[in-house]
Amino acid sequence: MKIQAINGFKDILPDSVVRWQYIEQRARDIFERFGMQEIRMPILEKTELFVRSIGEATDVVEKEMYSFADKGITMRPEATASIMRAFIEHGLHVQQPVQRLYTIGPMFRHERPQKGRLRQFHQLDAEIIGAVEPRVDAELIAMGQMLLDELGLSVSLELNSLGCPVCRPPFKERLVAHLEGISTGLCEDCRRRRHTNPLRVLDCKKPTCRELVQDAPSLLESLCSNCDRHFHEVEEALSLLGIDFRRNRFMVRGLDYYTRTTFEFLTSDLGAQAAVGAGGRYDGLIEQLGGPPLPGIGFAMGMERIALLLEQQGDAGLPATGADIFLAALGRDTVAPCSLLAHLLRREGVRAAIDYSGRSLKAQLKQANRQNARFTLIVGDDELARREGTLRNMATQEQRPVDLSGTAAEQCQRLIRVLRA
Ligand code: ATP
Ligand code: MG
Repeated sequence: MKIQAINGFKDILPDSVVRWQYIEQRARDIFERFGMQEIRMPILEKTELFVRSIGEATDVVEKEMYSFADKGITMRPEATASIMRAFIEHGLHVQQPVQRLYTIGPMFRHERPQKGRLRQFHQLDAEIIGAVEPRVDAELIAMGQMLLDELGLSVSLELNSLGCPVCRPPFKERLVAHLEGISTGLCEDCRRRRHTNPLRVLDCKKPTCRELVQDAPSLLESLCSNCDRHFHEVEEALSLLGIDFRRNRFMVRGLDYYTRTTFEFLTSDLGAQAAVGAGGRYDGLIEQLGGPPLPGIGFAMGMERIALLLEQQGDAGLPATGADIFLAALGRDTVAPCSLLAHLLRREGVRAAIDYSGRSLKAQLKQANRQNARFTLIVGDDELARREGTLRNMATQEQRPVDLSGTAAEQCQRLIRVLRA
């Protein structure tokens, strides 16, 4: 029996890795324009970290975590909690009161695998800790939007506010009372959530539930004056930056720690997996985890979903890959000098490919094409004797002689001049 990868865990093969590297590189570039610094945390954390931050009655904690029950540890289902743990543990705020951190890496959730939904998936995660101004919310959202724009993806941005410990509890009571009246029509999950996590009922994706909650009270209209002002200032700040958005009072993020601003970047091109990225403010979280009372806001984007969208759009913008030059050593005696030449070229930063097999020209040109080589240097025994090679432009198929006299280092420099011309 062949051993295969576990369901929901996927290899990313070299052809796709190019796309992933591109996404990462764009993300790093843009995040760093916004003054973000990278942080890397371990994959495993104490289970309690996620229970206390994400919340006991959330889908993630209730049913999606990969936990080692006997050891009390869990493979991280998201990055925010781990970043906050690291932030508190190392007292990062002491060095710099406002921390801007990002991380890129795998997350683990036990969900039903489908297109754009895996059990090991990857996120780009960005957090700004220590700043409470609405303009910071707008700046972070604008950074996410800039990344998706520069990747050429069209998404829509939805915005909501989840209030704060002042306005949310009384709203929750009103909502629970309302849900009581419509409970018979709700799906099984929502009938349960009605007691454990009533706000999540508003966000249910099932058409019958969606229909039923249309008349539910609106948290956006029940915000306390501070939250209401914050929300409007975020809207104004977004408009100033030219960011389009739509209010969605039904959007409730699946993690308990959110306060005030929440947002999602949505696509209509991935079926049920509509959220490309999402985030929000979490002003009580750090204190709740035993740290200083500092506010924060962040987002996470799903890299699988971004990669799928890029691919669906024909991978526009992806950098060309492949060898700068392929060395086709045709005769027995040419392999050794070509191998030295390839080594020297590589030392000079050239992407040089070589085939040691001494196969026919036809076979080697085919190989050069497979490796996407821009040029092929053809060297046969006769040519070597004349201290000459043939340089073939693989796109135009034009060929011209090149001088292979002098030392290997001299040949190398001459070739580089030709390649860079
Ligand atoms: P969804 O509603 O699709 O389950 P979510 O609200 O659980 O998403 P978050 O926890 O906010 O997702 O994570 C942020 C982003 O990470 C999502 O917008 C999505 O792009 C991606 N993501 C979340 N879960 C998965 C998964 N199982 N597989 C692939 N990507 C995922
Ligand atoms: Mg989910």
